[in-house]
Amino acid sequence: MEAELKEQQTFSNASVRIINRGRVLRLLFQEGSMTQLEIKNRLNLSGPTVTQILQFFKEAGLLREGDEIPSSGGRKPRPIEFCYRSFFAVGVEIRRHHVDVQVMDLKGKTEAGTVRRLVFEDSGAYWRQVNDIVRETVGSGPRAGRVLGVGIAFPGEISPKGNIVSRSTVLGLKNFPLDHIQKNFDYPVYVEYGANAAGFGTVWRSRELKDAVYVIVTNNGVAGSVILNKEIYRGRYNKPGAFGHMVLNPEGRKCFCGGRGCWSAYGALTCLTGEEDPDLEGFFKKLDRGDKGCALRWKEYLERFAQALANIRLSFDTEIIIGGKLAPYLAPRIDELKKMVAAYPALAEDCMDIWVDTEADSPMAEGAALMIVSSFLNDTLEGFHLEQL
Ligand SMILES: [Zn+2]
Repeated sequence: MEAELKEQQTFSNASVRIINRGRVLRLLFQEGSMTQLEIKNRLNLSGPTVTQILQFFKEAGLLREGDEIPSSGGRKPRPIEFCYRSFFAVGVEIRRHHVDVQVMDLKGKTEAGTVRRLVFEDSGAYWRQVNDIVRETVGSGPRAGRVLGVGIAFPGEISPKGNIVSRSTVLGLKNFPLDHIQKNFDYPVYVEYGANAAGFGTVWRSRELKDAVYVIVTNNGVAGSVILNKEIYRGRYNKPGAFGHMVLNPEGRKCFCGGRGCWSAYGALTCLTGEEDPDLEGFFKKLDRGDKGCALRWKEYLERFAQALANIRLSFDTEIIIGGKLAPYLAPRIDELKKMVAAYPALAEDCMDIWVDTEADSPMAEGAALMIVSSFLNDTLEGFHLEQL
């Protein structure tokens, strides 16, 4: 009985230590730099506990002592700084004909990136080639030994258990198993639906945002995700956010899903340019020069966009963020779109919180990398626990 109690006590002391380590790490991550006294007061921890935790993370390379802060008298305090470049995460977006690889630091800043032509095929050789591009992008310097993992943004719905791509129309896959991917990589791999990764990354980066509906426009259609309290909302079948297949016109254009009149059939970037690889810059230049054909296509495109956003806004009382390649072109025209959404009588004035995300150049790859960073900071990254640093 006594032995049992003692065991429980030891276990609970260890858990408290781990929890406190995580609290100190996340606080410094958020603030960047703080003195030991500030940390102690903010988290209500004892001096020796803070000293011990800081020592642990300094040895792991995650924290370091900064320069002395000038003070009027007494001992000059030295701030403790978070080393955002102590570890790195890699994000990979899988496309039909390309892979986009981004290496990010812990702050979410891009360190290196490569977009390479590589046609998707379900083979070990393909994944080994992706791994080679990852290694090349990471480089052979000290960064190579500080990679936490590779987040793969996949263009397809992932099963609720996370081990199967249940469907990817873009790649023509159904019930595609994911377990064989890992053996071709040098780093731990985590696979996520691309739009989920992109939405997650955008909200994770924002200090203000906790909840959002994220919409991403691609060459072939529209995808999306729902982020609640900075986490991906997965629903029952891991399918929320499939806004691209919301039917806007039951007798309308054929969609690649097999249905008719889906938003994707009107919202894909190919609808604007008519080319397989849309030249958006060229399209918007022509539009600005007053090209009548472009103006007509843009009008129809925006009308459908507004219709879809109105439906989303009526379903979710939260911010809507639009990301992807269209974002920089939509940014100067966002007021026009907002006005069209506001013209829906049920919405009127309460739909102004629609905005575009132009920060991420590769939102899916970056988001997949940031999922790794987030798991690391929350100490939930598989095979990589703060305790074992
Ligand atoms: Zn569809």
